[in-house]
Amino acid sequence: MSNTAQDSNITRVVNCPSCRKPVVWGPASIFKPFCSDRCRLLDLGAWASEKYAIPATSPPDLNEFDQD
Ligand SMILES: [Zn+2]
Repeated sequence: MSNTAQDSNITRVVNCPSCRKPVVWGPASIFKPFCSDRCRLLDLGAWASEKYAIPATSPPDLNEFDQD
């Protein structure tokens, strides 16, 4: 029951930009700041689609969501 034990071993945790899951910032997290390679590719895909405005098949669901 010692609180100092946790403080002495601070682990930096970031949130995955794609799914907001907590990601431990360490050598084990090779996809940081993403939690996984899937999220990394998802973010890259979103960036690419925004950058190049690929006229791909746009789901109507996204359009409704975008209009807020
Ligand atoms: Zn993620």
